[in-house]
Amino acid sequence: MVKATAYAVSSTTAPFEKVVIERREPGPTEVLFDIKFAGICHSDIHTARGEWSPATYPLVPGHEIAGVVREIGSAVTKFKPGDRVGVGCFVDSCGDCDECRAGEEQYCTNDDTVWTYDSIGRDGKSTEGGYSTAITVEQDYICRIPDALKLDVAAPLLCAGSTLYAPLKRWGAGLGKKVAIIGMGGLGHMGVQIAAALGAEVTVLSQTLSKKDDGLKFGASHYYATSDPAAMTSLRATFDLMVSTVSATTDMDSYLDFVKVGGVLVNVGLPEDPLTVSAEALGDKRKILAGSTIGGIAETQEMLDFCAEHGLAAQIEIIGGEDITKAYDRVVDSDVKYRFVIDTATFDA
Ligand code: NAP
Ligand code: ZN
Repeated sequence: MVKATAYAVSSTTAPFEKVVIERREPGPTEVLFDIKFAGICHSDIHTARGEWSPATYPLVPGHEIAGVVREIGSAVTKFKPGDRVGVGCFVDSCGDCDECRAGEEQYCTNDDTVWTYDSIGRDGKSTEGGYSTAITVEQDYICRIPDALKLDVAAPLLCAGSTLYAPLKRWGAGLGKKVAIIGMGGLGHMGVQIAAALGAEVTVLSQTLSKKDDGLKFGASHYYATSDPAAMTSLRATFDLMVSTVSATTDMDSYLDFVKVGGVLVNVGLPEDPLTVSAEALGDKRKILAGSTIGGIAETQEMLDFCAEHGLAAQIEIIGGEDITKAYDRVVDSDVKYRFVIDTATFDA
């Protein structure tokens, strides 16, 4: 066993505490890598606070992981010690169903997707995530971080980048398309950058105009406050594609109102309570309401390469292990620009 230092919570309300966890020695096709940076995704918070369902405690969250390979198993062909690597939201799947074979392991039809934390791995143990100094993962579930991307700003791409890249590509964001990103937090600020780099005309819908300058800098052409009724009225039937990254329950009918005839509203936010939508808002003008969950491994690699090529990265605030508890409250208050990233070098201080 390999010891790693980690930060864990022991209940829905407990603060993060430093703990020592054990990672397995790499099996023949597994890679042990040193985690350098881990992003804080809002999903970590929903999970730690038991907002979706009861979690298993102690819980070590973190699925935006960037690091450097320490050791490889005897049959590993894809990586070698010293390689810069990343792991996102899942670490295993059945590998055999149509979806896994198509590179969409996150939709494994055998329901064998093993999430990076709070899931049961093939060894029968609960998985533990990236707020730790090392992790052992099967080589097929690891991405390569391009040299052009620094590890700290690359970490959030493993979830936030992938989660926005997948629906933007699937639903055709590109030249001549009007795309709206709803909510400019961790996911949203990557969505703006990626949609703009794909060639779309991008609009941000945020609660206020306080982040407008940043939104325009990220590549948006327009930025509106959802609290401004006149601006919202002017946006009726405007967008080919909208992606909602909102972490709270919001009014889907009003967003659908901004979609063009036959256009698409993709929801990726995962609030605690169900979203409601009226049949009228959906049927009126043949609109499509869709969902999406991260991207597969191949698509996540494609996204990392795309970001490197286009000079895109997360805008981050680096914190130490002792700051995680406070950072959670700030994320919930929408007080982060735009991703907290934990520097694991602070763990052994
Ligand atoms: P985040 O950084 O907290 O961003 C969420 C944004 O939503 C906030 O910045 C805010 O944007 C907006 N928002 C928050 N409360 C709101 C409210 N009451 N009304 C309207 N807008 C509100 O969170 P994140 O890490 O980007 O994650 C966003 C959501 O996506 C979470 O629910 C997370 O669990 C989920 N998620 C889903 C996937 C997937 O695969 N589907 C992957 C990762 C995360 P403004 O300040 O601009 O208004
Ligand atoms: Zn995430």
